[in-house]
Amino acid sequence: MKKIIPIQKENINVLYKKMWLLKFYAKLGFKIYINYENQLFENSKKRHDKEIDEVLKNLDILNTRKKREKYNLIYDYACFYLDNEFQNKKLCDFKKDICICNREKDKNIVSSCCVRNTNNQPCKYFDNNQKICTIKCITCKLYTCPYLRAKGVQYQVNSISYLKYHLSFRQKLICCNRFFKDKEEIIDEFMKFYKLP
Ligand code: SF4
Ligand code: SF4
Repeated sequence: MKKIIPIQKENINVLYKKMWLLKFYAKLGFKIYINYENQLFENSKKRHDKEIDEVLKNLDILNTRKKREKYNLIYDYACFYLDNEFQNKKLCDFKKDICICNREKDKNIVSSCCVRNTNNQPCKYFDNNQKICTIKCITCKLYTCPYLRAKGVQYQVNSISYLKYHLSFRQKLICCNRFFKDKEEIIDEFMKFYKLP
């Protein structure tokens, strides 16, 4: 069974407005397609331009019926989105491995909040040689420090379409409260509060 959603260039967000209905169709076993500029899409593989990419990734999620696979997609797309935001907008603006917040401090300067986290200790998942986090934690990725928040940089679960439209209230709370936890652990928790979207 097929359901085709026509989307116009000037009204690309129509998918989000119809999301509750599309989730209902998907639950009934319909495969959802998008007709955009006379091209039929069943997933995001065919086209990667910014304009339609996020909509097509939401389509991927809609058309994935296996629970764990669906949560993996939601999680990966949300992490990818946040990584891009921080990198492309240079939000932490690292110079010589020190972030902007710490560069502007007079004392107790460290390289980033990963080096001094909430317990005032380096995070055990931070690789200090490569200056990278070794896990994939959505809560950490959503976090911005008071310095950035004062500048209006803040990410909410509901400002990211993959999380907003495809997670339940309990699952959204999990996203906000699982600092220093890896993807598999967080997805295990999502599974406990699974209800077919
Ligand atoms: S969130 Fe703030 S403290 Fe953490 S790395 Fe970015 S600028 Fe630095
Ligand atoms: S788990 Fe969080 S605090 Fe620890 S290194 Fe990774 S991003 Fe930083």
